[in-house]
Amino acid sequence: MQFASLGSGSRGNSTLIEADGSAILIDCGFSMRETERRLQRLSREMQQITAILVTHEHGDHVRGVASLAKKYDIPVWSSRGTAKAAKLEELEHWNCIDIHQVFEIDSIQIQPVPVPHDAKEPCQFIFSDGDWRIGILTDTGSITPYIEQQYSACDAFILEANHDEDMLANGSYPSSLKHRVGGDFGHLNNGQAKDLLSAIDISKLQYLVASHISDKNNTVALARDKMSEALDMDASWIDVASQDEGLDWRVLRHA
Ligand SMILES: [Zn+2]
Ligand SMILES: [Zn+2]
Repeated sequence: MQFASLGSGSRGNSTLIEADGSAILIDCGFSMRETERRLQRLSREMQQITAILVTHEHGDHVRGVASLAKKYDIPVWSSRGTAKAAKLEELEHWNCIDIHQVFEIDSIQIQPVPVPHDAKEPCQFIFSDGDWRIGILTDTGSITPYIEQQYSACDAFILEANHDEDMLANGSYPSSLKHRVGGDFGHLNNGQAKDLLSAIDISKLQYLVASHISDKNNTVALARDKMSEALDMDASWIDVASQDEGLDWRVLRHA
């Protein structure tokens, strides 16, 4: 099982997970052309994508979904609330996710996890091929007990570290936006990411990826330093999914 990021941040998010010949794209917040270009960088093309999963309707997650799905005839999966808000229901191959129910695409098991975020029916996902578990958790304002339970014992964890609390408080955002981003239905700050890592079983982690990092209210160094407080590892061990570069392939392996 392996994964890569096409890019992550407020200007576009997309993650690619592969196992047993299936390739699942999670969100696509880039234009069609930009997505094709970023896939090429990972030595892939849209024709190889098995399915697109959508976490919620915000533009940085859905921008390219409908056009890519139509052009390449790829099935799309999302909650009904997300589909209504992002007009995905009208796609020919839209599949409804019950966000409380495990489902499968080919041989990949997918556990949706409902999250507190200011969208209609948002969820995040944990993927398993029987050997490995990869968790993705971004666009979450606060940590629920259910999140703690579900994201324990992942082999790879792509985790939001959106902002540094002080940088957000002292930064240039208008106060309404500061409240939105920092609120319980906004985005995880570095400290919340660290607290989650401290609360769950991270003993299996081969990869931890800091993601959805704000370019105005955070720095890579601050995010890594804070998250590493919960680990027995140096901050430099933590991977970063950046806005422009994403993250190159990471492969899960037996020791
Ligand atoms: Zn987002
Ligand atoms: Zn969002």
